[in-house]
Amino acid sequence: MRERTIKIQKPRTYCGIVGVYGVSGASKDIYYGLNALQHRGQEAAGIVTRERKTDKTFFNVHRGPGLVADVFRDEKLLTEVLKGDAGIGHDRYSTTGSTENLKNVQPIVVNYRLGNLAISHNGNLTNSHRLRDELTQEGTIFQTTTDTEIILHLIARSKKDSVIDQVYEALEAIRGAFSLVILSDDQLIVARDPYGFRPLALGRLGKGFVAASETCAFDVIGAEYVRDVEPGEIIVIDDEALRTGETRSIFLPEIPRQSRHCIFEYIYFSRPDSRIFGESVDKVRRKIGKGLAEEAPVSNATAGSDAPSGEDDAKLVVISVPDSSNTATLGYVSQSMKMGIKARFEIGLIRSHYIGRTFIQPDQDTRTLKVKMKFNTVKGVLKGRRVVIVDDSIVRGTTSKQLVKLVREAEPAEVHFRVSSPPIMHPCYYGMDFPSEGELFANQFDGDIERMTEELNVDSLSYLSLEKLLDSVPLDERRGFCTACFSGDYPTEVEVNTKEEFEANINEVKI
Ligand code: SF4
Repeated sequence: MRERTIKIQKPRTYCGIVGVYGVSGASKDIYYGLNALQHRGQEAAGIVTRERKTDKTFFNVHRGPGLVADVFRDEKLLTEVLKGDAGIGHDRYSTTGSTENLKNVQPIVVNYRLGNLAISHNGNLTNSHRLRDELTQEGTIFQTTTDTEIILHLIARSKKDSVIDQVYEALEAIRGAFSLVILSDDQLIVARDPYGFRPLALGRLGKGFVAASETCAFDVIGAEYVRDVEPGEIIVIDDEALRTGETRSIFLPEIPRQSRHCIFEYIYFSRPDSRIFGESVDKVRRKIGKGLAEEAPVSNATAGSDAPSGEDDAKLVVISVPDSSNTATLGYVSQSMKMGIKARFEIGLIRSHYIGRTFIQPDQDTRTLKVKMKFNTVKGVLKGRRVVIVDDSIVRGTTSKQLVKLVREAEPAEVHFRVSSPPIMHPCYYGMDFPSEGELFANQFDGDIERMTEELNVDSLSYLSLEKLLDSVPLDERRGFCTACFSGDYPTEVEVNTKEEFEANINEVKI
């Protein structure tokens, strides 16, 4: 296979996870759940189920590269291979370990002293390199290059007598972001790091239980949302839970008073029809758009003219960069109108959803063609208009520049760019695939709006302020948010070798 490296243009999400316990034919529910979470990872997918036969328990596994529908194209996989009433699944987008190594595709499965064990992980560990070094020095043989495997080894090496005690001990040792579903012979264990970086929700499906990264996975299988898994909580779901309808929980030590949920989940990652961190994504994202309009309206006056004219009023159109900016754009337009600005939401950019990984990519330097493959303009909507483009974020700036170029080809009167997040100045070590600091657009220009406006070739550029962003999210005494990629204020220590590794590797995706 020819190897090529592409630079990531947009922030990419890191994985979706699903766990099901006590539901006959669990693999089908996991399959549909993974499908609903496909936006969180499109490189690979996998399902592991537990099958009980009279005196033995088996783990059935199927994993592969590609979208969920491709990996499980043969329905027999679900009905005849992945049998059982409990299981876990994973949508992968690699942050550590290339997907070319198929062993890196999750769930990862092992057999050890207490039986079978499988794990699906969303997030990034910040002390993985030290732990991996220590484990390797002590003779551990790693099958994958992922940080997730470290968790399995820590569990397997524990001298404790029960799986749950072993899991507790392992999770005490790791740092950073982890939302996990772990399947053992007798339990589904659902856990979240003490800061609660990544979302994870618990639901009921008939008499059984389900856990998933986002609640949109529950909707598709008809599961009922019960609650979010608490930061630092380890939930045990077993046959006793099925009998009583009650799960048991233990908590990791040193849970901070206030969580640090990833605020980017609301800006971009999660689906608008999901509920995460105790609030609807749609609701928060609209609020973010409204806040952006309050802070950075585009008035009806033509640039250079003081007086709004009736004709100009009709010509101000607001378009979103689909799909992730759609909801914030609706909020932007409704607030603009409330403020007396005659703004109209228009579908000015059309996105192709059908570019698969196997599509022949143009050469590295034909970036315009790459963007054109993904987006096209509706010229009649844009020609002669004053256009406001709303996008959720600017990472490297390459896509934004090409988008503006594309929009300008449709001959609008003006182009204004509005970003529904603050400038991204720092990398993320908790599971968001940003490039290194020096490659971040805003960082390259020291956040200087004037220079960035010029670089993007727009008539005006504005970002949402961090204060306004924090006003839009459900912040309270216990619920706090990580904003490190904007502020540089990392909630946890990030070990130096993790940073070095990040700088060296993380912004490359092998295809
Ligand atoms: S650094 Fe940014 S992307 Fe990463 S967890 Fe924090 S808010 Fe989310």
